[in-house]
Amino acid sequence: EADIAMYRAKDSGRNTLIFFEQDMQAAIAERYVFEHDLRNAVQQETGLELFMQGQVDAAGAVIGAEALVRWRHPVRGLIPPAEFIPLAEETGLIVGIGDWVLRESCRLMARWREAGKDLNLAVNVSPRQFRQDDFIARIRKILADTGADPKFLTLEITENLLIERAAEAVSRMQALAEMGVRFSIDDFGTGYSSLAYLKRMPLKELKIDKSFVRDLPGDPNDAALIETILSMAHYLGLEVVAEGVETKAQFDFLASRGCEYFQGYLFQKPLPSAVWQDSIEP
Ligand code: C2E
Ligand code: MG
Ligand code: MG
Ligand code: MG
Repeated sequence: EADIAMYRAKDSGRNTLIFFEQDMQAAIAERYVFEHDLRNAVQQETGLELFMQGQVDAAGAVIGAEALVRWRHPVRGLIPPAEFIPLAEETGLIVGIGDWVLRESCRLMARWREAGKDLNLAVNVSPRQFRQDDFIARIRKILADTGADPKFLTLEITENLLIERAAEAVSRMQALAEMGVRFSIDDFGTGYSSLAYLKRMPLKELKIDKSFVRDLPGDPNDAALIETILSMAHYLGLEVVAEGVETKAQFDFLASRGCEYFQGYLFQKPLPSAVWQDSIEP
């Protein structure tokens, strides 16, 4: 948007340039307010909400869920993560958000376990959060405080975690894996991929990005890509989850090629965690 404004400014002279400056100032002020509101929401633990989206196996049985955070803004309403996670990463607020999400998620898992349900819970962890010096200690404390079983906790990380200090990231993953925590590579295929590191990471699964699922089964390139990811994952002893499964035809294609788990609107939209909880009661 700024680029377009700049272009127009050059195009039509001084008046537009003044508008552009006003727009910039408005944008800066808006960002400032937005950041301030987010900081309040994180510090006062008001406004963040946890949604859950079920994950199913090839028979359609729910094997767990992914935790997806939202922010209920007092004025703007429910804000999706794509609109505040980048700002949270930039400002460091992601550390507080990530802690809250992990703690809430582990509380729920502990409750499921008390009810006799061994459901897996996948939690997104952003690079900055993962790189905190005391990340391992924080996870250990959250597990101890909540009584959640690490075996049922999957941390979803992205390939971009390996752009910097990859060896350090892998050894940190190993320490967490020794505690029983599982790892999944989220949005697999969209980031910086190092096959060399892929085999060194203690992974449970790869998660195929929804952009590769969208045009299945018709798009031959996506079909070939999916088949390649599935066979590579299976050679490496990893399971595969497909995200963004919206149609029966997509599901059939993936299942017939050995994809183990599925997540998408075909099965369930993300639901407020309390509603999700009710949906799995017998
Ligand atoms: P993601 O981890 O790849 O999550 C999958 C996204 O796809 C979710 O969007 C989900 O609602 C959406 N989705 C699920 N099924 C379908 C489908 O069938 N079709 C389509 N079109 N979309 C589907 P959401 O909830 O808006 O989250 C977006 C991203 O925000 C997540 O992508 C993740 O990267 C990030 N995020 C969400 N919660 C957290 C969190 O607690 N911490 C961090 N660090 N990031 C988070
Ligand atoms: Mg995810
Ligand atoms: Mg994903
Ligand atoms: Mg994704």
